[in-house]
Amino acid sequence: MSATILDGKVLSQEIRAEIAKQVAAMKASGGPTPCLAAVLVGDDPASQVYVRNKEKACEKAGMGSIMHRLPADTTTDQLLDLVAQLNADASIHGILIQLPLPKQIDETRVLDAVNPLKDVDAFHPENVGRIVQGRPRFLPCTPHGIQQLLLRNRIPIAGQNVTVVGRSEIVGKPMAIMFMQRGEGGHATVTVCHSRTKDLPAVTRQADILVVAIGKAKFLTADMVKPGAVVVDVGINRTDDGLVGDVDFEAVKEVAGQITPVPGGVGPLTITMLLHNTLAAARLQSGT
Ligand code: NDP
Repeated sequence: MSATILDGKVLSQEIRAEIAKQVAAMKASGGPTPCLAAVLVGDDPASQVYVRNKEKACEKAGMGSIMHRLPADTTTDQLLDLVAQLNADASIHGILIQLPLPKQIDETRVLDAVNPLKDVDAFHPENVGRIVQGRPRFLPCTPHGIQQLLLRNRIPIAGQNVTVVGRSEIVGKPMAIMFMQRGEGGHATVTVCHSRTKDLPAVTRQADILVVAIGKAKFLTADMVKPGAVVVDVGINRTDDGLVGDVDFEAVKEVAGQITPVPGGVGPLTITMLLHNTLAAARLQSGT
């Protein structure tokens, strides 16, 4: 039997409509217009598309968005100057530094310089520390989107064996921490896998919920999945066959109980959670 598709696009529309309502209410009651500043360094085509989509989503939700494009040969100091300006600008509530940055730029210094109250990606060490301690200010957008996808589809998480494949700072690591926390969307028994994991298929086959974020096209095959498991595919890989995930979707959907497609799964939810964080940042900064 074929798996049920977990549709991230439809859910995104629902959540974005909720956010747009809250933004309208904030503005109507004399509050600020939440505004996101996106910084794009260089001309990576995929990054340009991502930033444009984020801008469009902000505008549709009634938020402001300001784009800063810098040339590929920008230095760390030049980028730090811009971050300082954005930190000081009271009309900007969220700052997004589109990754990856060109290699001459010290990414850690730049991300650490973002005001933690405007850190809508939740990459600042203060915000990461708060997540680990179970008192988040912002949740990172991709893991938050995945958690919402599971919760809003009423997929049980508490007590389940959840396996996260990949341990990046952006997806795998925070995802694993969020699933193991106490509270809604947590209480799972979490296993984290990476490139040094021994006998990966034996581990992934234990999972009731399997989140795959490694960046390798169609890597997760049907024999690596427990029948009936929930499979969340984070991967975005550009191949000759177009955009594909990290999961061999066609084969895995015959084994899994529920599965996210690529595109139309996790991707739209990531942007949606960025809107959520920008609204939250505006609330925090304005005290509304
Ligand atoms: P990174 O490239 O930063 O990390 C990849 C992780 O996968 C590493 O932890 C690595 O292990 C692990 N890995 C690599 N090969 C294997 C293997 N053969 N077996 C087990 N683990 C392996 O990845 P990101 O998290 O940044 O991105 C992952 C994918 O998700 C990419 O395709 C990216 O484009 C996509 N993505 C999608 C988003 C969305 O909104 N849908 C948002 C962010 C990312 P090790 O640590 O040992 O090297």
